[in-house]
This record gives sequence, C-alpha cells and structure tokens, in this order.
Amino acid sequence: MEKIFYQDQEIKTFTATVIGCSKAEKGWEITLDATAFYPTGGGQACDLGTLGNANVLDVTERGEDILHLCDGPLEVGQTVNGHIDWERRFDLMQQHTGEHIVSGIIHKLYGHQNSGFHVGEELMEVDFDGPLPEGALEEIQRLANEAVWADYPVNCYVPSAEELPHVFYRTKRELPWPVRIVEIPGIDSCACCGIHTKRTAQVGLIYIFSCVKFHQGVRLEMACGKRALDRLHKICLQNKQVSQILSARPLETGAAAQQMKDALAGERYRSAGLESRIFDTIAQGFAGQKTAFCFEENLEPAGVRALAEKIAQKAELAGVFSQKDGKCNLCLAGNPEEVKSLGVALSQTLGARGGGKPGFWQGSVTATREQINAVLQK
Ligand SMILES: [Zn+2]
Repeated sequence: MEKIFYQDQEIKTFTATVIGCSKAEKGWEITLDATAFYPTGGGQACDLGTLGNANVLDVTERGEDILHLCDGPLEVGQTVNGHIDWERRFDLMQQHTGEHIVSGIIHKLYGHQNSGFHVGEELMEVDFDGPLPEGALEEIQRLANEAVWADYPVNCYVPSAEELPHVFYRTKRELPWPVRIVEIPGIDSCACCGIHTKRTAQVGLIYIFSCVKFHQGVRLEMACGKRALDRLHKICLQNKQVSQILSARPLETGAAAQQMKDALAGERYRSAGLESRIFDTIAQGFAGQKTAFCFEENLEPAGVRALAEKIAQKAELAGVFSQKDGKCNLCLAGNPEEVKSLGVALSQTLGARGGGKPGFWQGSVTATREQINAVLQK
C-alpha cells in the first residue's frame, strides 16, 4: 500500500490497481495498491473525489490498509484513475498548516501545548492548555502572518531511532519510533501525520476571530487562506450596511452605534416619564368609581401593570386591557375578592392565562374588546 500523499502532497490525480472490493453498509469498500487519498487522521479530515466512475464518500485507515468507501463497485485487478477534490484538500492543508504556525508561536512564547484541534464548516477551533495575556492575540496574529509572508518551507521527515532523542518537537505524549516530524524552520517542530502545504506562503492569510476561556486555557476560533478571506469579506459587507444605516465612515461604525444606543436609552427614559404622567391623568379620570375598566392600545405588559396599579389607587377594582401583537395584555388590581372572581371569569369564558397574588392578577387573552366587555358587564 503505497501512500502517494506522503511522497507528494500536491498530486491531484493518480493511477492505481484495485486489489479489493467488498460490499459495505453504505457502499463498497475499495482497496488499492497505491493511493493519493489521505484518510481521516491526525486531526485532518479525509480527501474526497472519484475513483474510476465511482465517487469516494469516505477514506479511513484500517491497520495497514486504506479503505475508500465508494458509491459503486470496482473490479479487482482493474486499473483506475483517482481524482482528488483539490479545492477541499487545499483548504484543509491551509487550515492545518496555519494551525501549526499559530501553535508553534504560542508554544515558543508561552510554553502552552495545543490540546485540541477541530476544523468546522467555517472556522477551526484550536485549544491551548494555558491562558493568554491581554494583547497577546494581536502579536500572535502578526507573527503568524509574518511567517506566512516569509515563505518558509514546511519540511516533513522521519528521523532515525538514533536521531529521534535529539530532535526537539511538540507532542502531547511520548511517541515510539518511527515519528513523523513536521518542521517549519524557526516557527514550529511537531509530531504530525497530516498533510501540509509545501511552503508557508501557500497558507495565504491567518486570522484569529475570537479567543475564549476554555478549561484551564483558551480556545481560538481562526481561519486561514480563502476561508479567512471569505469571512472577512462577509464581515466587511455587514459593516458596510451598518455604515450606511448610521451614516458613519466604515472605521467609525462602533462609535456611531454607541451614540445611537445612548440616544435610544435617553428616549426610553423620556417616554417612560411621559407615559407615567399620562397614566396619572387617566387614573385621575376614574377617581371615586367603584369599578374602572380601561382599554389602551399597544402597551407592553409592564405598562399595563403600571396603569392598573395607578387606577387601583383611585377605584375599588381596576382592569386594564391592551391589544398588542395579536393578543390582549391585561392586569386586574384592587379588592382581592373582586380581582379573583373577574380573573376566574376571564379564564373560564375566554381562556385567559395568567396569575398573581391577592388583589393582583396579570396575564393575557386572545379575544376582542367586545368579547372582553361582555364578560366585564356580567
Ligand atoms: Zn500537521
């Protein structure tokens, strides 16, 4: 079983002989005498593509064999052409190599080990076993991109058993010989069986989008190459929209949004004051009445409650009803016996939902003003 992907990671097509084909649950498992399809492993997803007329759905390693799960059978002994889905593979190589650069830099600066690595649909998550000080991300990102621009070679080699103890490399645990070392001079040296770009410039761009606390260390969300460019482009489009809405320059949208938020808080405070004065006037109109039922449009539950409490200071039983967003918010306040019996009547007749305490009942009902009035007049 010749692993062509280790001989040249940029081979996109190859020819091989089918040496096994067996029916599996989700297709056919094909084995070849040689393959350029990288199997899932070392934190890297497998290659996809085609073998002859069959699509390759999954590639896994079983013992010494590499199994290609295909959607059709292939004849044993037949020579087939293999095509690697290069867009997918190059993207994975960019993410993986970028992860080496960032992990190598963090290890060198802070001594932290990479404790987890996952390439998602849009971003990759890279975990480290120690915290990063404030301001560290910018420096790490700058150094990582400088390593990309320096176009260092990415060397992969297997040291002899005698050499291995003298080779420095990052690893989570002691590894028996043979160990495959991936080395970017001056940046990283790590035990890894994955596939990488030949040179760091091929990574294109490294961008760290977020850093959050994770167990004893941190989790970075980052992207490399085209992924990073695509995401930054989407963020720029969002900022352009915000910039147009707020009539602010693209680099001043944050300050403009803060200004708008402060202005809105001021308006809320002002309208709450006006609302309170209007509620006082409405409540005054019910002064001396035994029952006071009030219909006001578009009040939030908090407004309904505030108005009911003000009216209850002037009348024996207050009921406030406000149609908003397809339902009627309501609040009853005053004499506990009357509040309770009206609450029960609204629940039983119109299916009102709510609850409260003696002398207070708040909830909502899906009913028209006429239907509610019919209950109130009983
Ligand atoms: Zn690697």
